Amino acid sequence: MAYFDHNATTPLSATARAAWLHAADESWRNPSSLYRSAARVRNLLENARAQVATILGAQPDRLIFTSGATEGSTLLFQHLSSRSTQPLLLSPFEHPCGVAAAERFFAGRTRHLELDRGGLVDLETLQSQIAKERPALVSVMAANNETGMIQPWKQVAEICRKSGVPFHCDASQWVGKLPASDFGRCSFVTASAHKFGGPKGTGFLLIPQGENIRGQAGGEQEGGMRGGTEDYPSIAAMTAALDETDRTAQNLDAIAARVDWRRRFEGEVLRRISGAKVVGAGNDRLWNTVMVILPTGRNDRWVTKLDRRSFEVSTGSACSSGDEEPSHVLAALGFSPDESRRAIRVSSGWETDEKAWQALADAIAEVHEEMRDDGGDALTQVVRV
Ligand code: PLP
Repeated sequence: MAYFDHNATTPLSATARAAWLHAADESWRNPSSLYRSAARVRNLLENARAQVATILGAQPDRLIFTSGATEGSTLLFQHLSSRSTQPLLLSPFEHPCGVAAAERFFAGRTRHLELDRGGLVDLETLQSQIAKERPALVSVMAANNETGMIQPWKQVAEICRKSGVPFHCDASQWVGKLPASDFGRCSFVTASAHKFGGPKGTGFLLIPQGENIRGQAGGEQEGGMRGGTEDYPSIAAMTAALDETDRTAQNLDAIAARVDWRRRFEGEVLRRISGAKVVGAGNDRLWNTVMVILPTGRNDRWVTKLDRRSFEVSTGSACSSGDEEPSHVLAALGFSPDESRRAIRVSSGWETDEKAWQALADAIAEVHEEMRDDGGDALTQVVRV
């Protein structure tokens, strides 16, 4: 199998697995217990906090461990909505977990940020939008999970800082792929370990120093902000995975090679399939992500046919794949619902090599021929009736 769905989740890395097993065997005691062996686990937990925070360019007391980005955004939006009546300024392509938290906690007071012609947050109008709305929070993801498009989040962070408005960055797709040391500039950052070789159900929320997130009931763990016994083995595994992938992400040659493989793959697909489009082709994008809009066939059929050829790809966001709604991300970029239903996303990992990209391009060209032979969309309609 060639796995091209790393934006949905990644395999547990060998380093993370070893760290998890070691912690599960040696450091399983409850960090809140009073005896010395538990205090050692508490120390290890605090070391992990310091290590993750340092990689993000932040102070250790700014980091809360969570179950992942969904919980992080939920905790954050709930907290801010309860202390302010001001609106939330959100990009129109946030992950469904951010959109859902906004709908729940900022119902009727969520505004979309304006985009420039290239589909990036418009930095020119951002300042005036902030001045007009005086938002409780501005929220923009670092890199999009469907298209891989990179947003100017560092500039957004700076504009928000100068305007005195908190800024949240969903870093889920950036962390582990590109260097993470600038995230300390954001007020709030959310991410999930399973996107960078760590275990599922573990992540972090970075908060400003002195901020006291309230909302979740529970014990006094995580400064009383996220109660519940800490899962130290998973936190140890996340920390090891982050350390390893962030080091790899510092290797500019390794990234340049992968950008090149991705570009060659795109060139092949565009050359062999007339009418195919790469979303965000002219933009800065993650080295691992390509969203292609194909001229024939619904994306769920593409996924099935590629799966039969041993290539695992996706229709877009893992959370919305399988549902019938066109992608809100592609809609924000001006693509029609029909184009959205013909879009597939491929996302590689550090371990994916050039040969795998080439083989995927061949398989896509083959499936295209097959789709044309069996009538593409028309057949799907008949089969679905
Ligand atoms: N944000 C982004 C950009 C994502 O890609 C994802 C997962 O697909 C999430 C948030 C949610 O992550 P989790 O399901 O681990 O909470």
